[in-house]
Amino acid sequence: MLTVDEALARLLDGVRPTNGEHVAVADALGRVSVESSLPAANAVPPFANSAMDGFALRAADGDAARRVIGESRAGGPRAPVVETGTAVRIMTGAPMPDGADTVVPIENAEERAGMVAVAAAPSFGTHHRAAGLDVRRGQFVPLPRSPITPSAIGLLAAMGLAHIDVRRRPRVAILSTGDELRDPGFPLGHGEIYDANAPALAAAVIESGGEPLILERARDEPGAIEARVRKGVDQADLLIASGGVSVGNHDHVRSVIEQLGTLDFWRIAVQPGKPLAFGRVGEVPVIGLPGNPVSALVTFELFVRPMLRAMLGLIGDGRLRVTARVTETIGKDPTRRAYLRVRVDRDADSYRAIAAGGQGSSQLLPLASANALLIVPEGVAATEPGCSYEAMLLGGIT
Ligand code: AMP
Ligand code: MG
Repeated sequence: MLTVDEALARLLDGVRPTNGEHVAVADALGRVSVESSLPAANAVPPFANSAMDGFALRAADGDAARRVIGESRAGGPRAPVVETGTAVRIMTGAPMPDGADTVVPIENAEERAGMVAVAAAPSFGTHHRAAGLDVRRGQFVPLPRSPITPSAIGLLAAMGLAHIDVRRRPRVAILSTGDELRDPGFPLGHGEIYDANAPALAAAVIESGGEPLILERARDEPGAIEARVRKGVDQADLLIASGGVSVGNHDHVRSVIEQLGTLDFWRIAVQPGKPLAFGRVGEVPVIGLPGNPVSALVTFELFVRPMLRAMLGLIGDGRLRVTARVTETIGKDPTRRAYLRVRVDRDADSYRAIAAGGQGSSQLLPLASANALLIVPEGVAATEPGCSYEAMLLGGIT
């Protein structure tokens, strides 16, 4: 059995980033820029302007009253030149008139009969925003190796950029296998359950920056699975199946991968998720995830998400890790590294982890209420109250 780290290294081996595509900056949320920095074609701000509503004037005139000679408003016409003894009424974001070096906010000024009196002599340059204060023209603006955020979109737009090259979203074919599976919305017959994995894995693909393609579900028949896998690898960068990957009489995913391509490994020392098959059909990686929904989602998190991120040019799993103290005994298989479903919260100046419910690999409710996976190493048979372990955060801490 491979360790988690060995398995991940094999999965990531040879993964290359997808090609770029040109998209509108306004549509680039969550996408990953092909370039790690971009030169600014325009300065931000493009011209010197006022940070306050007030009066643009010359600091050298001290505390003397100034004659108001005009107005500068955002988007308005050019204001007259400010000379000694004069001032221009100015609004936030409006261009600084030539000759003015300082803005006195309206709160510190009083305008009467064409003159403005200031409460005190202003210091030079106050409330004056220089051209290029935020970004100089030609400056290389770094785009951190992470999905594009709303603030990055704002910055790119402020620089005047309408389009950007981003990595194409990796297409992930998703295949559920199992005679017992039905679609939600239909009544269940004897021994049937709803297919939770197809929609959950599709959502996980989207969350990781990919584009899901849900294949028609396959019954536990080699021919049906083979037909879907052939179709999936034709259309996708990666295929993930769930179910049928273990050693049961009706588990055919592994043999189908072997038949159509090559199987690299099929077991990992991880809990949940021991049976996980990885191989290739042609060039396309194929991963057979375990059928139990918690196993499928946790192994997606550990193995598929880093793969999708590598295809986007990103490193690692992008999850924060904290050290959290457990207060209870949670049993696990000592031969495997466990990822326990927990809720992490703050406890004074440290973090505390509490089991989010039962740790069975079919129990989705605890996973859905967890905000972290607590990583308990091989060799440990149960968590010890008071001991701290690494927790991989899946969501925020409330
Ligand atoms: P298998 O790996 O096919 O033996 O499946 C292991 C367990 O996961 C069984 O209880 C299956 O019924 C269940 N299971 C398999 N696929 C799904 C699915 N798509 N949605 C929900 N449960 C599933
Ligand atoms: Mg099955």
